[in-house]
Amino acid sequence: MPELPEVETVRMQLQRKVVGKTVADVEVFHAKSVDNNSNIEDQLRGKTISDVDRIGKLMIFSFVDEDDLFLLAHLKMTGQFFYIDKTGKTIGGGHSATAGDTELPTKHTRVTFHFTDRTSLHFNDMRIFGYVKVATANEVRTARARFGPEPISPDFDCSWFHKKLNKRKTPIKAALLDQTFIAGLGNIYVDEALWRAKVRPTRRSDKLTKKEAAALCAAAGDVMNESIAVGGTTFQHFVDTGGANGNFSDYLKVFGQQGKACERCGKIIKKIRCAGRGTHYCTGCQK
Ligand SMILES: [Zn+2]
Repeated sequence: MPELPEVETVRMQLQRKVVGKTVADVEVFHAKSVDNNSNIEDQLRGKTISDVDRIGKLMIFSFVDEDDLFLLAHLKMTGQFFYIDKTGKTIGGGHSATAGDTELPTKHTRVTFHFTDRTSLHFNDMRIFGYVKVATANEVRTARARFGPEPISPDFDCSWFHKKLNKRKTPIKAALLDQTFIAGLGNIYVDEALWRAKVRPTRRSDKLTKKEAAALCAAAGDVMNESIAVGGTTFQHFVDTGGANGNFSDYLKVFGQQGKACERCGKIIKKIRCAGRGTHYCTGCQK
C-alpha cells in the first residue's frame, strides 16, 4: 500500500498532465475497476478535466462545468497510472512497474482514458483492489468528512493540534495514525516524525508539552514534504529505472533501523508494538 506522500506525488503529476484534457473515450478492460459501471464512457465522454484533488489517498478528478460529476481513483495495493503523451512517451507512477509493463495497454491495464488530443491515461492494477469510479458531489463530501486536516496543508494549525492532543489519552502513535484526527501519516512517517520531534511513540497524547506538540507538528509536515520530493523524482524516472519505488532508505532514521545506533545520539533503535503496529524509536533521545 502506498503511503500518502506517494499518492500525492502521483496526484501532482496527474494534475500537470491531464488538467485541461477532454475525454474522447474510455476503454474498460475490467469492470470491477470502474465499480461495474457500464455507463462510464457515456458519463465522461466530452468532459474536460478541471482539477485533480486528493482526500487522504483518494484522488478526485473534477470536470469543467460539472458540479455533480467526479472521478474517484484509489491505487490500493497495486494501482498505477501511466500517461502517454502525443509522441508515445510514457510517464507513470504508483507502484513499481513490472517487466513487460512498459508497452501499454498491458495485461494489467484495467481502464484506459483516451483524450481528444491523442494522449491517454492508463490505469494498471495487478491485484484489482484499486479503482477509478464515477461519483456524485455527495459521495465526495462523505469521503471528505472521514479525514482530518493534513500536516502538509498550509492551513494546518499547530495550536489546534496541541489542544486536540490534550483530550486524548491514547499513545501519541495511535493519535497520529487516526486519519479522522489528522490525515496523511502512515506507519513509516509517524515513526519518523516522532523521532524528529524526540517524542517516544508510547507517550500519552495528553502528556505532550506545548513545545513537543509544536516540534511534532513541524516534523510531521517536514517528513511528508521531504518524502513527496523523493517520490517526485521516482515518478519522473519511473519507467527508465525499471520501476524502482521511492528510495526512502536514504532518509529513514528509525523505521526498519532496529538494532542500529541512532544517528543523533548513538543509542540503540528499538522495535516494539504500539497501536497495533510495528513501531520504531530511539531508546536514548526520544522521551
Ligand atoms: Zn537517539
